[in-house]
Amino acid sequence: MLPPEKNNDTKELALLEMLSLVYEEMDLDTIEERFVNLTADIFDFDRVGLFFVKHRKGVLQGKLCKGFDPGMISSIEIPLTGNSIFTKPLVTGFPYLSAENKIAAADPHLSKIGLKDFALIPIVNKKRLSCWQIKNCAKADCPAYGKKWLRCWLVPGTKCGNIPLDDCARKEEMCRECEVFARQDSDTAEGVMVVDNSTSNKPISLENITLLSIVAHAVGGAINNAKVYSRTLRESIRDDLTELYNRRFFNERLVDEVDRARRYGGVFSLLICDIDHFKEVNDTFGHPTGDRVLARVAKILRDNIRSSDMVARYGGEEFAILLLNSDKKLARNLAEQICRTLAGSMIPEIDGRQITASFGVATFNDDSISFEGLMAKADRAMYLAKSQGRNQVIAL
Ligand code: GH3
Ligand code: MG
Ligand code: MG
Repeated sequence: MLPPEKNNDTKELALLEMLSLVYEEMDLDTIEERFVNLTADIFDFDRVGLFFVKHRKGVLQGKLCKGFDPGMISSIEIPLTGNSIFTKPLVTGFPYLSAENKIAAADPHLSKIGLKDFALIPIVNKKRLSCWQIKNCAKADCPAYGKKWLRCWLVPGTKCGNIPLDDCARKEEMCRECEVFARQDSDTAEGVMVVDNSTSNKPISLENITLLSIVAHAVGGAINNAKVYSRTLRESIRDDLTELYNRRFFNERLVDEVDRARRYGGVFSLLICDIDHFKEVNDTFGHPTGDRVLARVAKILRDNIRSSDMVARYGGEEFAILLLNSDKKLARNLAEQICRTLAGSMIPEIDGRQITASFGVATFNDDSISFEGLMAKADRAMYLAKSQGRNQVIAL
């Protein structure tokens, strides 16, 4: 027996809950996961899948699903330039409902996923303009009239040209010609959601697809916000040139580590590393080459620390490394390894000349139990390494 349909009040409440959950969340993966799970629950679909646009690769790629085989969904890559039904909603902004398109286009992905009764809903991040405001429309009996959240081309039964438009194909054709559709800010196409009732054969109603299209539009905005937020967050803690953490973020982590070690015990060490005679690199090869060398040194450092350690660009040609669970002996050994690896690395930008650095080590407890004390000690050790001939490690 089929489960009872959710009544409208319950559905509306669930939709509101879904929107608030999605809007309150700033983590992209969580938003997407909630969107898939709540869509499946609220609308009682057999299966739900989420595909995202990979702009650089130029494909629509399967990412998340409920009910489908996750491996199969994530293996799907559909070129954006192709003529697939899956990419159509991204171009038109319209949902695609298989029941409304009796002659289903032949698409290899349909049979791969096993889709018969399904709908595709675009997830876009477009600026919303009210159709009735742009058109100065006064058709009060049109479902889109006076509504902030509805857009005429997403709502069936709109009264454009005085004809009720329930026929998706005809509606799409008319909307394409319309200034309202053209004036939408076609910002970014985020992805496509596939909803499917091919197992239970329950009909997928146009009303549900309209509702879901409106929610998907809001989710498209939320996804975009989450992306902007994570990019801003990333940029605020990283150095542009080397992509290492910046000094501010490193200091915060070091203060945290000092607090933790004071409270719960444990040991860690701090390395300060300064490139030797770097001014000569700039003077000989120019500043832009100097920049590329800095990025290369940063990569060598990043590739040669353990995954639990952390390296930051601390100043111009100065780096700081936090070595967790490392006493002085271990820290000195690790620093010596890095020092040797750097000195032995080929740096093509400077005709294979050697780049070396001087390292100072300070260890929590042995040298100091304060942030300032550790920094001062590591700095003093590094300057001693400089004065004793460079390309070496000093642990006082
Ligand atoms: P030492 O062995 O004593 O450390 O010698 P040094 O030449 O490395 O030290 P000094 O402090 O005299 O010079 C540091 C140089 O690093 C000078 C500065 O122009 C260069 N530098 C600092 N930041 C950058 C940067 O972002 N890009 C480039 N290309 N050079 C930088
Ligand atoms: Mg230097
Ligand atoms: Mg320096």
